[in-house]
Amino acid sequence: MTKRYDGATPALAGLDLRVRAGEALAVLGPSGSGKSTLLNLVAGLDRPSQGTVTVDGVRVDRLGEAASARYRRERIGMIFQFFNLLDDLTVLDNVLLPAQLARTPRATARARADELLGYLGIRKHAETYPGRLSGGERQRVAVARALMNRPPLLLADEPTGALDTASGQDVRRLLTELNRDGQTLVLVTHDLALAEACATRTIELVDGVVAR
Ligand code: ADP
Ligand code: ADP
Repeated sequence: MTKRYDGATPALAGLDLRVRAGEALAVLGPSGSGKSTLLNLVAGLDRPSQGTVTVDGVRVDRLGEAASARYRRERIGMIFQFFNLLDDLTVLDNVLLPAQLARTPRATARARADELLGYLGIRKHAETYPGRLSGGERQRVAVARALMNRPPLLLADEPTGALDTASGQDVRRLLTELNRDGQTLVLVTHDLALAEACATRTIELVDGVVAR
């Protein structure tokens, strides 16, 4: 795929990339190399100028607005550097949110949330507000929320970027375990330790192409 914004130089220049189910792909590269553009195209938040994006059988580049929102809700989990949690909702209510948007029956959603909070080691914080948690715990909540609707693909944008050493280590371990349990991951990161710990494959983007 190629992505051109207004400038003469494309942000992605004929990138050809396949990620198999079960892989954990780390995408490294300097600022401006096209990493965020890549995530946005995979998430259907923007379209390529040329080329196609297919995820789990869905032609993402062809989706209209409503279908694109539904695709993100059902097939994609996203986690970010700054967690993007809602501070006036408890941990449990944050995790339940995607299920509510998908109109999952309440009992099914509660059971799934409970299972995830246990799996991620944060069940004791279910009734806590995110502001009272450490950075690593907040990222665990964000991961639980991202996995709520069982997405085949989890996208992460600098998931350890805002964390201190101990919390960063915690999240590296968590993502590694998730992938070991079969979750497909695409991680955009500057954190070489994360790529080394977690990735089954690492690529480096430079000027919108795979340089390494
Ligand atoms: P990275 O995430 O690796 O820092 P980006 O994908 O954000 O790289 O940016 C790649 C290139 O595309 C940069 O030159 C950037 O300035 C440009 N770019 C990114 N988003 C936009 C946008 N919305 N409009 C115009 N140019 C953009
Ligand atoms: P077990 O104790 O049987 O080995 P796990 O501890 O691996 O099971 O998982 C506990 C629960 O967490 C499972 O019932 C499963 O549904 C859920 N789970 C496990 N792996 C994932 C994953 N990658 N994404 C979302 N949920 C998961």
